[in-house]
Amino acid sequence: MSVTEAKSRLAAPNAAQRIPGILIVGGVIFAAALFGILTRPVGFLASFWPANAILLGMMVRNPRYAGPAGWAAAFVGYVAADFLTGGGWYVTAWLTAANMVSAITGYMLFRLVSENDRKLQHPVSVLYLFGICCMAAVAAAFAGGGAVGLLFDRTFAVGFKLWFVTELVNTLVILPAILTFPGVRSLSVRWPPSDGLSLETMLRGAPCLALILSVAGGVLIGGPGALAFPIPALLWCALTYSLFTTSVMTLLLCIWLLISIPAGLVDLAAPADPIRSLDSIRLGIALMALGPLTVASINTGRRELIARLQHIANYDALTGALSRGAFFERGQARLDELIQGHGNIAVLMIDLDHFKRVNDEYGHGVGDAALKAFFPQASKHLRAADLIGRLGGEEFAVLMPLADMIEATALAERIRLAVEATEVALPSGEALKFTVSIGVSAHKADASTSIDAMLAAADQALYEAKAGGRNQVRVRS
Ligand code: GH3
Ligand code: MG
Ligand code: MG
Repeated sequence: MSVTEAKSRLAAPNAAQRIPGILIVGGVIFAAALFGILTRPVGFLASFWPANAILLGMMVRNPRYAGPAGWAAAFVGYVAADFLTGGGWYVTAWLTAANMVSAITGYMLFRLVSENDRKLQHPVSVLYLFGICCMAAVAAAFAGGGAVGLLFDRTFAVGFKLWFVTELVNTLVILPAILTFPGVRSLSVRWPPSDGLSLETMLRGAPCLALILSVAGGVLIGGPGALAFPIPALLWCALTYSLFTTSVMTLLLCIWLLISIPAGLVDLAAPADPIRSLDSIRLGIALMALGPLTVASINTGRRELIARLQHIANYDALTGALSRGAFFERGQARLDELIQGHGNIAVLMIDLDHFKRVNDEYGHGVGDAALKAFFPQASKHLRAADLIGRLGGEEFAVLMPLADMIEATALAERIRLAVEATEVALPSGEALKFTVSIGVSAHKADASTSIDAMLAAADQALYEAKAGGRNQVRVRS
């Protein structure tokens, strides 16, 4: 097998590997369509019809199934559900075609936006979602409006409106949860929480509790305004929880509202035209949910940006060691703990030997490669509590809590030997070898101990190692 062959095999699963996924698509659509059929009012189309939104979501998340076989499996799923419940072939084919038009239109439009927008991670992503859902709903309404007319003896205009509203409401409510699903492995529910039921854990549940209470308030007070009662709590959820959790909460809330209003659980003033009012309320519920979703989406983007900036501030971009500032900050925190417990602390100062010469002879690129190669050789010997930072240029420091001079010297020696055995590939094909000198100092932590003073002592030892011929470890307490 050639390299190109190997790459293409890794990149795309072949037809046989796609079969289980394609069968899942067909099975899920069969189940979702059956659910829609079984819950629809007698003599009318289903108002909660999740199948099209689920199909669209599955295809957007797994484009490898969005080929002819995947769409055909979905078609079979729709048709099988309809036949099982006694639908005639002519009407079934028409309705199924309209369902597929919705999902295929949505899928093609989602391909025009970025991967991050498909996961609703940009401030404008929810607006794109809205636009795409509107266009998919219009396409489905054109395709299916006539079938409604034929089935229930209504005009095309009535069928178009019914199809459009149902499609838009279902996709807006269901799609966000599918598009933002982080994968089964990311869903870790830590219960009971590791720190017991702390105040912090309970406060994290507060937005969810507020949402439940506001829904209950809506049921008790009633009236058209009750629909908007959950908005503040939902905004609080959006600011507290992940985008996926917020999407699921929005989905559950919308399903509850969509079911409860026709069922009379939330008592609205008796409308003059019930069907028209119901459509208006259903649209209102779905559109209302876009606000909190946008907040959650912006908040997710903001959180990721802050995490990226923190990483840039705390870690050296070339080697991955702690930056100078982060090394001192975290080192001081470790030292403060050790001062309280009167523990030992040791530091190493490590400097690459004759590094100027490396740069001069082989160029800065090779110098950078040597710095990169040094870091894993040093860090692989550290314990979990040890810190390693790049203090500047080719100078690194290690801080070892609860280590005495013997342990610190042994570690320094292991690092020295590991670096000595390391090779960096040169453009000529030859290998560059380089060495480090290390100064060690160890102390019993007390109120007079400071990171600066410990590093100064280790620096003195490093100076002696350089003067002694380099590629060696020297100590100073
Ligand atoms: P000694 O054995 O005494 O430490 O000699 P040296 O040449 O390593 O010492 P010196 O401190 O004089 O030189 C350090 C050199 O490290 C100077 C600078 O060009 C190089 N250097 C500092 N930072 C970087 C970097 O990020 N990349 C590269 N390639 N070189 C760097
Ligand atoms: Mg040097
Ligand atoms: Mg130096």
